[in-house]
Amino acid sequence: MTARIPVAILGATGTVGQKFVRLLADHPWFEIAAVAASANSAGKRYGDAVRWREPTPLPDRIADLVVQPCTPPLPGTIVFSAIEAEIAREVEQAFAKAGALVVTNTKSHRMEPDVPLMIPEINADHLALLDVQRAARGWSGGILANPNCSTAGLVLALAPLHRAFGLEKLFVATMQAISGAGYPGVASLDILGNVIPYIAGEEEKIEIETRKILGTMQGRSLAIAPVTVAAHATRVPTVDGHLEVVSAGFRTRPSPDQAMAALRDFRGDAVVQSLPSSPALPIEVDLRPDRPQTRLDLDRGHGMTVTVGRVRACPLLDLRFALLSHNTVRGAAGAAIQIAELLKARGLA
Ligand code: NAP
Repeated sequence: MTARIPVAILGATGTVGQKFVRLLADHPWFEIAAVAASANSAGKRYGDAVRWREPTPLPDRIADLVVQPCTPPLPGTIVFSAIEAEIAREVEQAFAKAGALVVTNTKSHRMEPDVPLMIPEINADHLALLDVQRAARGWSGGILANPNCSTAGLVLALAPLHRAFGLEKLFVATMQAISGAGYPGVASLDILGNVIPYIAGEEEKIEIETRKILGTMQGRSLAIAPVTVAAHATRVPTVDGHLEVVSAGFRTRPSPDQAMAALRDFRGDAVVQSLPSSPALPIEVDLRPDRPQTRLDLDRGHGMTVTVGRVRACPLLDLRFALLSHNTVRGAAGAAIQIAELLKARGLA
């Protein structure tokens, strides 16, 4: 049996960091070698520093790790970043300069032209930007990003439709869970029994990241997809899972049956399909009129499958539907781990 690759988690005490710990605890290819967080946690035993909120017990081996500061070097060829966005930029670049492959959940580098913003089933070929980045920045490591939590599920559901019918216009309204705001996140008195029609910066992220992920490699650079996107983001009192409703306009108008067939048939390439975190079906189409529902459909494909339902004609654009994805798995830790798996499968890690 080959040795597992050591990995480090920056922000390991946070909402996404804990999801990393849980998903990596028994990973077949990776082994948690270091956990890091802010100066408040550094130096403490992880089990004492973290307010563990995952539903499975924290493994003793990881609880006994001493929390490190987020400065290189840390033991770990791959470094997963789930730290506050404000400080992430400098920290992540320091690790890339020191030779680590940083896979980040933060917005810090997502829109930089030489940073792959990846959903492996959709744009594994964007990995070519890593060479461009290394040449331009002169570092031996690199930075790769997964999308914002509300963009990840949305674009996974749109990609097969874009390939088949040419997406031109998109209206999306999100109903986003509280865990998307980290911990302690939104105050309970603000969100219980309430809906808040504003999440700072979220609509802009959806609008620009969608175009980058659906973009195409042209030589050594990425051409952004010419899609017009209007996003409305709302925070709702669910714990995990972002539900989104979409209307989309295409170059060639699909019937609902054609759209559902494209969604059902969609798979990543053979390498991506074989990754440990890739679900058997990236997208499931549910024909029941009241699905997907956040509580009932969240964990399909261990949180990596996006559920699409209510696919029907739209009198405003061409097609409308609802989708659900797990914000801290497909929209954060699971997404980053899948990217790291792709790096290993391609011999880059
Ligand atoms: P969170 O629960 O607030 O956790 C923040 C983490 O950052 C904690 O581990 C914290 O460590 C650490 N941290 C804070 N200040 C730091 C500093 N100065 N130096 C080093 N570490 C520091 O937030 P989260 O929801 O997990 O989000 C983490 C990142 O992922 C954010 O950039 C967020 O935008 C992004 N993201 C979140 C989601 C989601 O669904 N929640 C989805 C996609 C992306 P201490 O415990 O020591 O303070």
